Amino acid sequence: MRKGINPNLAKIHRNCTVEEVAGLFGVHKNTVRAWVKNGLNICDDKKPMLILGSVLREFIRNKKTAHKQKCKPWEFYCMRCRRPQSAAGSMADYEPQTSTRGCLMALCSGCETSMNKYFSLAKLEGLNDKLDITIPIALKHINKSDEPLLNSDFNE
Ligand SMILES: [Zn+2]
Repeated sequence: MRKGINPNLAKIHRNCTVEEVAGLFGVHKNTVRAWVKNGLNICDDKKPMLILGSVLREFIRNKKTAHKQKCKPWEFYCMRCRRPQSAAGSMADYEPQTSTRGCLMALCSGCETSMNKYFSLAKLEGLNDKLDITIPIALKHINKSDEPLLNSDFNE
């Protein structure tokens, strides 16, 4: 993502063609087409393709924040706050999806919206001093039989 793109250049109440958007932000038309492919909503299926200014502004703004603000391992991206947030009460739940990976869930410390992300079971240990993670008892049992090495790591 280049630095110079200012989301406020998009005029909220105007629909723009791909060419106009490209001219507005000084990017190639193919870049704009790539944005459309990557989730930038267009008005309808009519030709030429039209992009609503407010939608465009929002898309670029999200693109910038997503790029700038990376979550630390113990942080989650809150959809409501639109930025990485720590877990409320430093508490999280781990829900296994495979024997090595699962979903880490917590409430946003800012707005209490539930947040989640995929996390590798092996890396959970590294979060011990940042998060109080609840792991289902069933999973501990699975590890005992399937992956004895991993289990002994947890007991250290
Ligand atoms: Zn939040």
